[in-house]
Amino acid sequence: MSRAYNFCAGPAALPEAVLQRAREEMLDYRGTGMSVMEMSHRDDVIVAMAEQAEKDLRDLMGISDDYAVLFLQGGASAQFAMVPMNLLGDAGRADYINTGQWSSKAIKEARRFGEINVAASSEDRNFTYAPAQSDWRLSDDAAYVHYCPNETIGGLEFDFVPEVDKPLVADMSSTILSRPLDVSRFGLIYAGAQKNIGPAGITVVIVRKDLLGRAGASVPAMMNYQTHAENGSMYNTPPTFAWYLAGLVFQWLKEQGGVDAMGEINRRKADKLYGFIDASGFYSNPVAPTQRSWMNVPFILSDSALDKAFLAEADAAGLRNLKGHRSVGGMRASIYNAVPETAVDALIDFMADFEKRNG
Ligand code: PMP
Repeated sequence: MSRAYNFCAGPAALPEAVLQRAREEMLDYRGTGMSVMEMSHRDDVIVAMAEQAEKDLRDLMGISDDYAVLFLQGGASAQFAMVPMNLLGDAGRADYINTGQWSSKAIKEARRFGEINVAASSEDRNFTYAPAQSDWRLSDDAAYVHYCPNETIGGLEFDFVPEVDKPLVADMSSTILSRPLDVSRFGLIYAGAQKNIGPAGITVVIVRKDLLGRAGASVPAMMNYQTHAENGSMYNTPPTFAWYLAGLVFQWLKEQGGVDAMGEINRRKADKLYGFIDASGFYSNPVAPTQRSWMNVPFILSDSALDKAFLAEADAAGLRNLKGHRSVGGMRASIYNAVPETAVDALIDFMADFEKRNG
């Protein structure tokens, strides 16, 4: 069996060692004679597995006891609603920064619940840069400030953490665990798992505890962070298998040297690929150089008529899922933690060869 180089934006590549471990434990999890999938979430073995996963994530990200770590369902999209439902409070107003399709979706959803001020936007230049904080028009009475540090589709990543005097809320779906981060700068961080955490079906929310308990009475129990914080994310049946796999990914990350080591590798992978693209004259990426995503690298060919051939030949060479998002076209290579540097090298070799033959 040979594994493909998988550049999918999500669900994305998982570390091979994690998949192998899951395979070994599939039929008999630690001598129980059962699969993780077949056990009660109230079983001591599963509770211990879940607690270990949370502990490992706390270690990896340096999350203090001031924060609750929740493992929820509904993807990051459910968080687009849960954040305002839980945090708008009496102010009824929040500031959002619009840097692309995912921030736009978060804004649209939040508008169901309150007054949303778009404090800054980079739509004027097709979301190819992050607006400088000096240009943000924040409201005095906002309950929180929301932004998306890494736009998965546009491949735009903030090169700064905003300084605000309100709780800072971040959709980190496609950047979490890719490099070191000071969690204490944030009020709330959320991330769908299917990129750097694990398989689809579980969502991590890291929320400062003083922000719990602000939801109004009409907010359903399942949509209230406090419910989940009080119940160890086991108010109802959690996605135990996804949680287990996330736990294996956290252990794997620790073995690799944690986010410091991953950050080094990720920087190298991204530098190589962008460096090659910039030098080629055949491929291009439109994002401001200091704000290019380390995780999602969109690029176009100088002649879009070659797109089909590029994708077909890449696929035949074992380089999968390079097609850009359906809304923008072109190509996109997502190079998350589990995508090895050898995959980036293979991609660059292929791109160079394709250029030679078609450029
Ligand atoms: N935010 C970002 C930055 C994303 O990349 C995605 C998914 N690609 C989402 C939100 C939506 O996540 P989900 O599909 O888990 O709801």
